[in-house]
Amino acid sequence: MARQTGSVCRLCRREKVKLFLKGARCYTDKCAIERREYAPGQHGQVHPKLSDYGLQLREKQKVRRLYSVLERQFERYFRIASRRKGITGEYLLQLLERRLDNSVYRLGFADSRAQARQMVLHGHISVNGKRNSVPSTLVKTGDVLEIRPKSREQQRILESLKQVEQRGIPAWLELDGPNFKGVVKTLPARSDVTFPIQEQLVVELYSK
Ligand code: SF4
Repeated sequence: MARQTGSVCRLCRREKVKLFLKGARCYTDKCAIERREYAPGQHGQVHPKLSDYGLQLREKQKVRRLYSVLERQFERYFRIASRRKGITGEYLLQLLERRLDNSVYRLGFADSRAQARQMVLHGHISVNGKRNSVPSTLVKTGDVLEIRPKSREQQRILESLKQVEQRGIPAWLELDGPNFKGVVKTLPARSDVTFPIQEQLVVELYSK
């Protein structure tokens, strides 16, 4: 399982963009990137011109870190996407969006993808009435995601549901907040991923 040790804010600073890895804190002025908008480390304030390869690598790392996916798993998603007809980059993003941990986060049951992953692992989520503790499960159209009854009193879940309006819920999902339930209306489209990503750079990197 992907596990980040150390400060996740360093990852945002390294990629020079907010990756929203820390939940509510990311929306406050305590956000590290608001205070220090340069890469971490001794040479963080030096801005070398990146080669094409460097740009592609940074874009891939940004996407991988955004979804908290390990390198090997990310490569596997790319292989699946590249075998499919159509636009590889868009399908890659769709696969990442469809992950169960991401879907739980996008529905607002958790305030970060890391928290969503932990909720799934700890058995707080059911899919179509059955407990599912595998964060990499790919959700499909018609799936019903629910917080299991025993977990509905948890303060962090209630707070996340309150905050989700600030983030917004993508059009491919529908939230029934009072019943702690969400439905996958359709598969995510490219337009549902509003985070700035140049997926073509990732495709170019792996196509070398
Ligand atoms: Fe990134 Fe959130 Fe840390 Fe800001 S607070 S640097 S958005 S993880």
